[in-house]
Amino acid sequence: MRFLALAVAAFAVLALALGVTGGKNNLVFLGGVGLLLAFTTFRAPTISSFLRIFAAIFATEYVVFGAVALLSGYGLWPEALKDFIPPGSLPVTVGIFGLLIYAISFIPVINSIMRIADRFFDGEDRTTVHVWPFSKFQMNEQRLARWMVVFLIVVNQAQVGISVRLSFFNRDWFNAIQNKDEAAFWSLLFTVFMFWAIIYVTSAIIEYVVQSVLMIRWRRWLTARYVGDWLDDGTHYRMALAGASADNPDQRISEDINDFVTRTYSFSITLLSQVSSLVSFSIILWLNSSNFAIPGTDIILPGFLFWVALLYAAIGTLITHMIGRRLIPLNFEQQRYEADFRFSLARLREYSEQVALLDGERTEKKLLMGRFGEVIRNFLQIVSLRKKLMAFTAGYNQISVIIPYVVAAPFYFAGKVQFGILTQTAGAFGRVEGALSFFVDSYVSLAAYKAVIDRLVSFDDSIARGRALGSVPPRLERNGSTDGAIALENVSLSLPDGRPLVKADLDFRPGETALITGPSGSGKSTMLRAVAGIWPFGQGDVAVPREARVMLLPQRPYLPIGTLRAAVAYPEGEGHYSDAELADALTVVGLPRLAERLDEEAVWAQRLSGGEQQRVAMARALLLKPDWLFLDEATSALDEPSEQALYGVLKDRLPDATLVSIGHRSTLNAIHTRHIKLERDGEIFRPVG
Ligand code: ADP
Ligand code: MG
Repeated sequence: MRFLALAVAAFAVLALALGVTGGKNNLVFLGGVGLLLAFTTFRAPTISSFLRIFAAIFATEYVVFGAVALLSGYGLWPEALKDFIPPGSLPVTVGIFGLLIYAISFIPVINSIMRIADRFFDGEDRTTVHVWPFSKFQMNEQRLARWMVVFLIVVNQAQVGISVRLSFFNRDWFNAIQNKDEAAFWSLLFTVFMFWAIIYVTSAIIEYVVQSVLMIRWRRWLTARYVGDWLDDGTHYRMALAGASADNPDQRISEDINDFVTRTYSFSITLLSQVSSLVSFSIILWLNSSNFAIPGTDIILPGFLFWVALLYAAIGTLITHMIGRRLIPLNFEQQRYEADFRFSLARLREYSEQVALLDGERTEKKLLMGRFGEVIRNFLQIVSLRKKLMAFTAGYNQISVIIPYVVAAPFYFAGKVQFGILTQTAGAFGRVEGALSFFVDSYVSLAAYKAVIDRLVSFDDSIARGRALGSVPPRLERNGSTDGAIALENVSLSLPDGRPLVKADLDFRPGETALITGPSGSGKSTMLRAVAGIWPFGQGDVAVPREARVMLLPQRPYLPIGTLRAAVAYPEGEGHYSDAELADALTVVGLPRLAERLDEEAVWAQRLSGGEQQRVAMARALLLKPDWLFLDEATSALDEPSEQALYGVLKDRLPDATLVSIGHRSTLNAIHTRHIKLERDGEIFRPVG
């Protein structure tokens, strides 16, 4: 960037010098813009990486186009390349774009967008790239992304350039038609039009592919990043503990990230291409009507047609806005109602058994149809509004086609302009009008964009809050222990709101079997959470042997959706154990018939009974072979003989494991060598025994 800034400064000084000595005001202006641009380019390392890409392109273009303009201005440009001379206003235009990029980097909303975008563009990841016809090669993911952005911006600008060139073709061609110049007609068609049209079509296809690849890579990276942030170090659990500030992480990760990527793309690269086209075609309109008088008067209004287009688009925009402004909140509501309806359906599926048992179908139906009624009601409001909007826009679009002709026709009939100019003007008018209405459409989706950004930012905040939980003193520390025991030393555990719950000074010796009992809500499960290191509230030291494998079986095991094989192997992956191992584990925990159905896919949490699910959890323990096994009411759904039998299997298959159980049944006493009771002591509970 520093080097680029120097180049811009050098060129600006040259233009200034030539302008001042030659008395050329436009060169002085070009140089002035250049000096400012040199400053912002020099400062570019302080702005966002994503914006910096744009800044670098505009600075480069300023120098390149400026040099071409200078050369051709002094007659030094080769005649053969005459077709490639950019319009004289281009260097100033891109220079001003560059300044604008620097200016918008100070807007707070842009800043929060860029913070999310830059995660991707600042990263350092290797990736394998395969571009036909080259062979595969390794590359930095972010460098690749930056080059794709550069490529897309340049292609977009080139396309605007080609459109401008084609509009001149259009002018010459219709002039040829008017002059009955058949030779020019055919030669323009086969040389100029064919050449540029083929380039345009090819570039559009390549652009589409590159753009899609960029967006999916960007989304993949961001999704992986967010899933990681959400899951790593139990952050998802801590976020729930920290309060329900970030609702629906699923929506944020699946929808919002996708939305963020597409909208950021459209608000940067697409917007830029529309602005370029607005500027270029405005210039054409201006030049085609530079000395037009206002009809019926003698007053010359430079750029008459440009002003008409601006006025026409402004009126259209204003009326569209007045009719359609209520569409934004209505569309927003529509999404919410649809989501509510969908969620009710999904929930019903989950609790289908209870609804059936309670005969709740009638109430459910009423509830569902009520929810759906909201969807319909809102939809009808949208229809009624859209109807009015359509009546206006359809008429407006029809008139747009003829308006430029109507406005320019008097000048044509008066012989001031040729037929080609008339049609070129009409085309340019359409482009200017189209670009302006793109801004209006963007304005509508701006609200949605803002909502997406807000949701991602608050998700980030919530992740940060979850991470920070328990990192301020007084802290609950989880350390390695040296003597092989799991020990709670001067531990006091509290609830999220700070109320104390349990004070414990307790250790579990390797090889023993301990039973913890106590009233419900006394903090038995919370003690196990502290041992597992996921409970952040409290103080003291929890010592756990470094190499020890600790496993906790809760009362209701989590069974992932998918094959039975995956459910039994969890938390290991599906292919971790052999079929024989899986079948053996299922058989000894008393589920021999399931052993033959490993490949079956189902929502196992709904299919299996509570006791069967607890047996599956036991099978997991047998497979994982932990050194420490904590069973938190893990056999509560089983009858007593089955419970006894399962403990027998555990001791048989895991002879070296230390067992710590939580339970209420007196029969468990006989199975364990040590008995710890949680007893009330004023406000709190203490383990005794
Ligand atoms: P139990 O001894 O029955 O296993 P727990 O350890 O599960 O009891 O819970 C102890 C107390 O902590 C209960 O009063 C419970 O309501 C409370 N508690 C547990 N988890 C949370 C949580 N995430 N947020 C607030 N309170 C909690
Ligand atoms: Mg419990």
